[in-house]
Amino acid sequence: MLTDSKRVYAFGKDAHGGNNTEGNRGMKMILGGKGANLAEMANMGLPVPPGFTISCQACMEYYNSTPPALPPGLAEDIDAYVADLESKMGKTLGDPSDPLLVSVRSGSPFSMPGMMDTVLNLGLNDVSVQGLIAQTGNERFAWDSYRRFIQMFSKVVLDAKGDLFENALTSKRHTRGVASDTDLDAADLRDLVAEFKEIVAVNVSAEEFPELADGDGRVAFPQDVAIQLRLAIEAVFRSWMNDRACEYRKMERIPDDLGTAVNVQSMVFGNKGDTSATGVAFTRNPADGTNEFYGDFLTNAQGEDVVAGIRNTSPLHDLPKVLPEAGAELWTVLQTLEAHYHDMCDIEFTIEQGKLWMLQTRVGKRTARAALKIAIDMVEEGLITREEAVLRIDPAQLDQLLHPQFDAKSHYEVVAKGLNASPGAAVGEVVFTSADAVEARAAGRNVILVRWETTPDDLRGMIAAQGILTSHGGKTSHAAVVARGMGKPCVCGAERLKIDAEKKQAIISGTDIVLGEGDMISIDGTTGIVVMGAVQLVEPEVSGDFDTILSWSDEYRTMGVRANADTPDDAVLGRRFGAEGIGLCRTEHMFLGDRKRIVQDMIISEDEAGRTAPLAQLLKVQVEDYLGIFAAMDGLPVTVRLLDPPLHEFLDSPRELAVEIARMECSGVSPSEIAPKRRLLALVDSMSEMNPMLGLRGCRLGIMFPEIYGMQVRAIALATCQLRAQGRDPRPEIMIPLVSVVAELETLRAESEVILAEVEAQEGCALDIPIGTMIELPRAAITADEIAKVADFFSFGTNDLTQTTFGFSRDDIESKFLPRYLERKILLRNPFETVDSGVAMLVKMGCDLGRKTNPKIKLGVCGEHGGDPESVKIFHAAGLTYVSCSPYRVPLARLAAAQAALSEKATASDNR
Ligand code: ADP
Ligand code: MG
Ligand code: MG
Repeated sequence: MLTDSKRVYAFGKDAHGGNNTEGNRGMKMILGGKGANLAEMANMGLPVPPGFTISCQACMEYYNSTPPALPPGLAEDIDAYVADLESKMGKTLGDPSDPLLVSVRSGSPFSMPGMMDTVLNLGLNDVSVQGLIAQTGNERFAWDSYRRFIQMFSKVVLDAKGDLFENALTSKRHTRGVASDTDLDAADLRDLVAEFKEIVAVNVSAEEFPELADGDGRVAFPQDVAIQLRLAIEAVFRSWMNDRACEYRKMERIPDDLGTAVNVQSMVFGNKGDTSATGVAFTRNPADGTNEFYGDFLTNAQGEDVVAGIRNTSPLHDLPKVLPEAGAELWTVLQTLEAHYHDMCDIEFTIEQGKLWMLQTRVGKRTARAALKIAIDMVEEGLITREEAVLRIDPAQLDQLLHPQFDAKSHYEVVAKGLNASPGAAVGEVVFTSADAVEARAAGRNVILVRWETTPDDLRGMIAAQGILTSHGGKTSHAAVVARGMGKPCVCGAERLKIDAEKKQAIISGTDIVLGEGDMISIDGTTGIVVMGAVQLVEPEVSGDFDTILSWSDEYRTMGVRANADTPDDAVLGRRFGAEGIGLCRTEHMFLGDRKRIVQDMIISEDEAGRTAPLAQLLKVQVEDYLGIFAAMDGLPVTVRLLDPPLHEFLDSPRELAVEIARMECSGVSPSEIAPKRRLLALVDSMSEMNPMLGLRGCRLGIMFPEIYGMQVRAIALATCQLRAQGRDPRPEIMIPLVSVVAELETLRAESEVILAEVEAQEGCALDIPIGTMIELPRAAITADEIAKVADFFSFGTNDLTQTTFGFSRDDIESKFLPRYLERKILLRNPFETVDSGVAMLVKMGCDLGRKTNPKIKLGVCGEHGGDPESVKIFHAAGLTYVSCSPYRVPLARLAAAQAALSEKATASDNR
């Protein structure tokens, strides 16, 4: 088909002022974001310098040939579009008397700010620079443009070090005794052009660019404009695969096979004197969302100067004072763009001798706070609907607002920056080893673990620390992956930190700051900054705009959201964040601490009679536990999971026991006194398992020690009756973990019902407590139709289900080979963060089979995936009744669930 081979698209006005644009904003995948939006602005009649876009597909074709080369026919297409552009502009490339100059700009389907390359002022050479002087009568401008071109082209296309040119520029300023580049005159700039060409000759390898070699085997800066253009286009294609761009894509999960488009655009000049300027603008404040124009500009400057920070920029709101006409026109354009895109736009503009030109626009990036405010304001302004507002907020971004943060009112100075690897802020004393972290923590001090990079040996230290700071590694480094898993703040790859772990100190290079052990620092894993001293932290809160968006979300979502909470405090927190119940109340922690002894007594007693006393003690404390949680969740369901972890977790470590016995022997303790210890050691040894996670745990415990589950069920029932008697409304649900065959559930359900009936009779209180199971083993998902016949509800435990579906032990893989798997793209994401498609199929199968035999069954998810926005959407599609997640993620889940419901509605109406 003809259209398939179309690789080049024009944009902008033709010679007669008519629109000659072949693309539009919907063509991002072909034209890249920049190209598609340049086309859109041209279609809107906004002033866009004409040009053409070479497609992203052409870039991939370039890579797909070996060695990389322009696909056949592309060079001819480009020639034709150049000729067309020349006729529109009435100028030709390289014309000695009136040259056309162009920029060659990268631009991929998804914004990758600053990651790829752009060349400005292409088309200048020793001859055409004279033409530019003749045309403009502005010698300084022409030489300035030429030196900028050589500088950018050499850096981007010829791979020369940018510093070489910067240094030459600096020493020129010095010898001329001026402070700023703008004070250099035409002669200085002409000298610099000669110097720059010499830098190229000395530093660029003629072997790499044979076509540029002169007679002496040195590289001559290309004078042939056709060669300039071809080399620049290829260099932009190549910039798709530069290290920065690849790393950025990995971080943002942008596929590698999209390619970048190349935009060849006629130049406009912001460096033509005091009526010229260049700048960036946002239609609203991207930091806090205020409805005001926002940005910076520079007079007499070219595009890259604004971002490069070489000169101090002026705030955008001063523009109308400096250049009234262009300023007024820009104001209108900003309004037009926002009304057209129905969103906050971010733009680049240039003013050439009073005339405004638009060079780029896109929907602007913003902070979470700004995103909420802008969405709500736009609903009030009638620009978007509530549904659109809800769909527009990125749930993952809201995470920024749900961790402890630096108090905005406090003042602090940033001493180093790294990657924002795991959100939240933390304050503590610097420690350089995991052992020191553990020790300080045991002494009740808060610490930040500072490492070059962490290894699996650092796990204990990471657990002990409030936060983690590393000087190496990216967002998939060990420290980053493990910290995110733990929900701990982490800043990684803070390269200015020169750590000497031996000496227990770190130097912050570029400063005279030396961090020693015990020094207080603060880190913010949401932004990646490091601060000396303790910054005041504030707890997150859902209020104002955040609350508004969430209450709208609640109107749209069809799936419930519950919290995972084991204590009354967590329950209250979950409720405050909008949880409609507890989807997972773990009981194991209730058996630790002082109570560990009682559990031990029970396990090691040889007969049932010996277990009676400890069980009675446990029953008493368990009733108290449940009273607290049921009361905190009065009127809302609380799913209590019966004891789940491997039993040996409650026993002493055999190694410590052996040491103790040896010690007793040495110090002459009598054998009769040692005997009980020996018996205990033998017992502990006999209970040790090769693979405890697949051993005696979950409902298997219930089958082996019916008294334990019996005691728990009794405690639940008693707590319920007591609260009822107080006029309250407790709603417990009993959940039996790790079922693989239906008979396990049948057995345990029957035993539980006997106990419930006993308590009912004894307390004279009618109980109606649902009994359900976790679906967390593949066999359970596959036979869910049988299991559903004896279950009132299923809760998919997607953590264990992921472990058992992959055969992955989470603790082992996340710290060992997962980072490598992600790096090599064997796995695209951590399956413990976003539910894997295979695991999701088991969930869907479990739902469908379960509903088939038990249409009234309630279906939830209680793995950590319940708080991952993408997974929430997958669970919605699988038909779940609710998701349950950590209290802090409840707000994200509410929003994600609403988005899932809204997108489903949209697809349904599209199909009609
Ligand atoms: P980036 O994606 O890094 O922003 P751009 O391609 O947008 O790179 O260009 C870098 C700078 O050069 C921007 O400020 C842009 O406005 C400016 N620029 C690009 N093309 C032109 C042009 N044809 N005329 C004038 N300035 C331009
Ligand atoms: Mg740009
Ligand atoms: Mg489990």
